[in-house]
Amino acid sequence: MPIFEYRCNACNEVSEFLVLGKEEVLSCGKCGSQDLVKQMSAHNAPAASTRGPAEQASGGCCGAPGSCGSPGSCCSA
Ligand SMILES: [Zn+2]
Repeated sequence: MPIFEYRCNACNEVSEFLVLGKEEVLSCGKCGSQDLVKQMSAHNAPAASTRGPAEQASGGCCGAPGSCGSPGSCCSA
């Protein structure tokens, strides 16, 4: 989904907007200013901290991280 972060030049509030149209008028959710600066999306950056430990635990039992649907699903114990 095209979610972008914008920082308000007026109050420095950072807001996330779901941008569907190309000429959508965005305004700060805090102060209403339309002087917003697009930020580098944090969603594209590798953020290991947002991934749950369960995902890490499930990876590797087939030899490749993420190859298991659920822990133990492909392991015959
Ligand atoms: Zn603002």
